Amino acid sequence: MAGEHERRCLAAQRAMATRGVDCLVVAPSSDLIYLAGIAVEPSERLLALVLLPFGPPTLVLPRLEATKLAEVAAFASLAVWEETEDPVALVARLVTSLGADSPVVAVGERTFAGTLLRLQRALPEATFVSADAILAELRLIKSPAEVALMRAAGAMADEAYVHLLGEKLSGRTETEVADLLAGLLRRAGQESVSFVIVGSGPNSAAPHHAPGGRRLAPGDVVVLDFGGTHEHYQSDMTRTIAVGEPPSAAKRVYELVAQAQEVAFRTVRPGVTASEVDAAARAHLTAAGFGDLFIHRTGHGLGLDVHEEPYIVAGNPLPLREGMVFSIEPGVYLPGEFGVRVEDIVVVTADGAERLNNAPREFFSLG
Ligand code: ZN
Ligand code: ZN
Repeated sequence: MAGEHERRCLAAQRAMATRGVDCLVVAPSSDLIYLAGIAVEPSERLLALVLLPFGPPTLVLPRLEATKLAEVAAFASLAVWEETEDPVALVARLVTSLGADSPVVAVGERTFAGTLLRLQRALPEATFVSADAILAELRLIKSPAEVALMRAAGAMADEAYVHLLGEKLSGRTETEVADLLAGLLRRAGQESVSFVIVGSGPNSAAPHHAPGGRRLAPGDVVVLDFGGTHEHYQSDMTRTIAVGEPPSAAKRVYELVAQAQEVAFRTVRPGVTASEVDAAARAHLTAAGFGDLFIHRTGHGLGLDVHEEPYIVAGNPLPLREGMVFSIEPGVYLPGEFGVRVEDIVVVTADGAERLNNAPREFFSLG
């Protein structure tokens, strides 16, 4: 990926020129992983990638991180600060070296507010803007290498789910099932588990239910929504199953939701808007009388973050382009009874879309 990071930094510099941005400051976050492959937790010790209009990026970092990170971002020049130095002054000097009277500094939205406030004090003549116009735009289209990683991440989630189908779930608590699924995600190769939702029985009607102590019992509808990472790229899939024999209403709702998911998937191709994909899923459920119970957007972009652009939501006029990756996850929720959701990640191709999740989409009944 080293060459790819260098290309991304160059693309960011081109976007800076187009937007009149003199300096781009990116703190530890998915943006920093994207630009430089550096995955570190944000801390009070300032670490940031600083891009000026020309030349290689500068990685501002504390002495104690220098050995570890020098080889990761070999294409960047290092500006190492000692524990007694002020790293914000170091960033400010890079900006003032440009000689601009009133420089425009773009700051990643995932930067600590404290860092931004200190930069603002150190550079009173600068104008600060969000870097998202540059970074979100770059991250919106996945390269073939990124799609390959996400395809692998999706296959791992599929594998974890298929293994879960061989388990007996009746009598286990939601938390136990979530732990089981997390273990299966790791066994399938995911380096970390990002989230696991297990909503059973009436809890399945809450789209983001946090797994708790409720024990799964025959007749339950169970929503399983889970994902992890592969080389920092996320997976995210949802399947709905039953324990024993589900209520007949759930079977009917399941069929409609799975159809809505398929209908939305078939609308995806370059040029179609995000809003139109949402409308396709919604129209299918509305025609069957369940539109009011589909209480969230149809999907969200996925990549280094679980939720990122593009959002598949009514009113988003964004035309889809080849290389965009997002979820299609219609759901129907009957409060106090049950909920059903089916979610796959898809990538927009030259003439349609490819699913990155291919695990069976049937309404399985488990023991
Ligand atoms: Zn999900
Ligand atoms: Zn999702």
